[in-house]
Amino acid sequence: MESKFDVCDPATGQVIEQVVDGTIESAVRAVDAAAAAFPAWAATPARKRAEILRRCHELMLRDADTLTKLIATENGKSAADARAEVEYAAEFYRWFSEEAVRGEGSYNDAPAGGSKTIVTYVPVGVAALITPWNFPAAMAARKVAPALAAGCTVVLKPAEETPLTALALARIMHEAGVPPGVVNVVPTTRAPEVVAAWLGDDRVRKVSFTGSTLVGRALLRQAADRVVNASMELGGNAPFVITADADVDAAVAGAMLAKFRGGGQACTAANRFYVHANVFEQFLEKFGKSVMALRVGPSSDADNQIGPVISHKAHARISRLVDAAVANGARIAFQGKIPNSGLFYPPTLLVDVPFGAPILSEEIFGPVAPIVMWNDEVAMLASANSTEFGLAAYVYAGRLQDALRIGEQIDVGMVGINRGAISDPSVPFGGVKQSGIGREGAHEGIREYQETRVYSVGWQ
Ligand code: ADP
Repeated sequence: MESKFDVCDPATGQVIEQVVDGTIESAVRAVDAAAAAFPAWAATPARKRAEILRRCHELMLRDADTLTKLIATENGKSAADARAEVEYAAEFYRWFSEEAVRGEGSYNDAPAGGSKTIVTYVPVGVAALITPWNFPAAMAARKVAPALAAGCTVVLKPAEETPLTALALARIMHEAGVPPGVVNVVPTTRAPEVVAAWLGDDRVRKVSFTGSTLVGRALLRQAADRVVNASMELGGNAPFVITADADVDAAVAGAMLAKFRGGGQACTAANRFYVHANVFEQFLEKFGKSVMALRVGPSSDADNQIGPVISHKAHARISRLVDAAVANGARIAFQGKIPNSGLFYPPTLLVDVPFGAPILSEEIFGPVAPIVMWNDEVAMLASANSTEFGLAAYVYAGRLQDALRIGEQIDVGMVGINRGAISDPSVPFGGVKQSGIGREGAHEGIREYQETRVYSVGWQ
């Protein structure tokens, strides 16, 4: 007997739908289907695969209203954020429909003569994709679209909090012409068992994971057993640096985006603000004013800008970090209002945060901004780099040279300069240090799903 699990609206706790709970058996069946579909999909002309992906983009936009509502309901993010995610996610299908036909390779004389070398790129095979709840459409699209463009077939495990969006995308892909077996979604409450079954299966040749560094490390250990090709998009702890001559209004606008989009539940979210002493008061006042004007509440009211946090556990973690900072001398400078009930956390600005406070080194994943004043660039950079993470950073400066000098010294994969958002399908997204391995999107994205194959040809 197959059992089902509840998918709930985090704003109300009400059950939206019940979904079949994937088992190890269904996980294996998904690999059976993906492995059976792989040879034909890999042999499908790239132009045809591209046109199907392009159709996915069109259908996502056709269904944008329904998808927006679905994301907002199961994830809790505001209607505007959910809408932006649909468009962002759809763009991955368009981008990789364009990449699918731009195959690369080379044909060369060997330097010593006597042979020729042909280098080609072939699909890696069945790919296991594991996605988080914070961008239920975009994280799936960012993996599925390049995998399909490369000629791979996939098994996809969405987060148990948000499986409905992944199932909706699977229906769209089917309608767009993706053949049966090419995309197999397995929602489950048994993530460790299902993913372990995939990583232990000889037919699975690739794992691509987006989620916490803790789980990413565990999956890398499992992938090591069979030397599975692994891409990891893990946690972040982005510093947001403002220099003495930055445009303060622009920095506030960027800070609102970098901190409060999706309620701060993004791995690229600004986690720590380093504001130069010369502009500190001005920035704090303006940032505070914008924060106090934020509307927090359920996404069912389209005017709300911040929804609930995803779970009780997340709420408790954010509270713990803020309480610990306050106990260590931090002060709440501004705190917005929240509805009387529900899993809401008020947008909060903290000042006087001591350099060693856990809130500066741990990922907050919520609408809280610790703000630190700096004078000495060397000390500021040392603090910005004193984290195991290295995903993103933001720099606001009056002179591009200053922004680049600071950006070059922060050990991350991506730097936003005078911008509060970096992600774009045309940009190679990814981090250094314990923020991950590999890149998603851009030209690089398709390579994560390809192996290099060489032919060395005797030439007398
Ligand atoms: P978050 O803390 O943001 O929920 P997680 O890393 O826990 O991030 O989850 C990201 C994805 O990894 C989800 O799809 C989740 O179900 C899955 N996951 C969590 N724990 C494991 C595990 N031990 N093995 C495999 N997948 C897991």
